[in-house]
Amino acid sequence: MNRRNELAGSDFGSLRFRSLGGWVERPVDQQPELEGHVSADVIVVGAGFAGLSTALELTTRGAKVIVLEQEFGGFGASGRNAGYLLGSMGIEFEFFVRRVGIEHARKFIRFYDEAVCYVERRMTELGIDCDYNPSGVIRAAVDPSQEKWLRKCMEVGRELGSVTRFVDQAEMRARGIPPAFLFGSEQRGGTLHPGKYVSGLRRAALQAGVKLYEKTPLLSYGEGPTITCKTARGSASAPLMVLATNAYTPQLGLLRNKVAPIRVSAIETQQLSSKQLASLGWHGREGIITPHLTMESHRLTAHNTMVLTVKKLNYVYGSKTPNVPDNGAYGALAQTLRERFPNLPDLGIQHCWSGYVSVAYDALPVVGVTGAQQNIHYVAGCSGHGLATHSFMGQLLAERINGVENPLLTALHHKTPSMLPEPFQWCALKATFAATRKYDEWTDRKVRKAVATN
Ligand SMILES: Cc1cc2nc3c(=O)[nH]c(=O)nc-3n(C[C@H](O)[C@H](O)[C@H](O)COP(=O)(O)OP(=O)(O)OC[C@H]3O[C@@H](n4cnc5c(N)ncnc54)[C@H](O)[C@@H]3O)c2cc1C
Repeated sequence: MNRRNELAGSDFGSLRFRSLGGWVERPVDQQPELEGHVSADVIVVGAGFAGLSTALELTTRGAKVIVLEQEFGGFGASGRNAGYLLGSMGIEFEFFVRRVGIEHARKFIRFYDEAVCYVERRMTELGIDCDYNPSGVIRAAVDPSQEKWLRKCMEVGRELGSVTRFVDQAEMRARGIPPAFLFGSEQRGGTLHPGKYVSGLRRAALQAGVKLYEKTPLLSYGEGPTITCKTARGSASAPLMVLATNAYTPQLGLLRNKVAPIRVSAIETQQLSSKQLASLGWHGREGIITPHLTMESHRLTAHNTMVLTVKKLNYVYGSKTPNVPDNGAYGALAQTLRERFPNLPDLGIQHCWSGYVSVAYDALPVVGVTGAQQNIHYVAGCSGHGLATHSFMGQLLAERINGVENPLLTALHHKTPSMLPEPFQWCALKATFAATRKYDEWTDRKVRKAVATN
């Protein structure tokens, strides 16, 4: 058995799959399923960052709002992510600029960065304590060959108004950032406990008077001046609907040609002992992401575990979103843990999970209005960066519904490229993942070689 398989196999045998992700449990005050008929000013479907934030913003503006959620608030990606509150640094500028042009790209950047400020403000306004550490986020290289790309991204970003700072090796070491991370670019933001954040939004929405129906999947809807939503045991009607179902939206028959649900995975280690924490030295607990094509993210939690995400993405034929383990991804993450933190060889992995984000071919947000009456609003896209953006979308959509168009929302308007029909979509996405993985493996092999010769 080679070293790689051995690591993946041994870590992996004891891994516990958590079907609800690592941060949330089913709420003790789970709201009752919808029974009978109800009506409101707006029906929001989906209770993640986008749905809860929109419902809350609309209610504050005086609307009567119903939320239909198939499981419970935070069941989707909002309760499963890595908890990075990150703005424009997370997106690939070059690709972006080629797609929409410099002027338009500048406005996108403002949207992404403004979204971070929005969440920071809302946490205070709503009194949500979610272990937020405004440490900044560092996009850190693991191999010197990544410097050119990193600097290029910073340069293009700067031209677009994305504020980042280069952190050199000396500063990285002085700050106690683990030595696998050589140097990087840093941006405002930080890490939080996404379970506490989404539960805080849910609690605030309930307190504000939002009528939340949990365990209530939307099965179908009828269009017209009044939209009627059918659920298993009831129905709801309103003149307006907001689909905040993100990666699950194609299953409702909408946005099938605009976004694909992509599976993203995570592992969480056991709690680090004080000795392990001291040996790590990572005092500022900065959120780290890497410039791999399929990134790695590494962070410490407030309860002293480490959470690693991504490395290997997946797509299920037909845009399906089964809540099942992704063993290949957990194996890759387990190996990454061992390689980036060789001084913690005994640190066990306690569990793993996966979730779905929605991705357009241009990786940009997909937000708009549809229906014969133009009364069905939707929000998706934002790829793996929806913590800030999809929360902020709540304010922007509530303003739009109230007749005030925020220029930051107008700026997101662009033509989303069409997705391919199956089986071509499956083939295209699988081929892309395989190619990016090959490139990333080439980088990682260089890192291993450098470690072996040192
Ligand atoms: C492992 C992982 C790591 C990530 N890390 C980060 C990160 O660090 N930072 C970051 O910014 N982003 C991250 N993301 C992405 C981020 O989590 C998402 O972009 C964000 O949560 C999207 O929020 P949302 O409300 O749009 O969607 P979701 O949270 O997915 O909410 C959609 C909701 O709709 C409900 N629903 C679906 N269909 C129906 C139906 N028919 N009827 C009723 N309800 C329905 C679902 O149950 C779900 O609760 C990560 C994602 C994953 C999976």
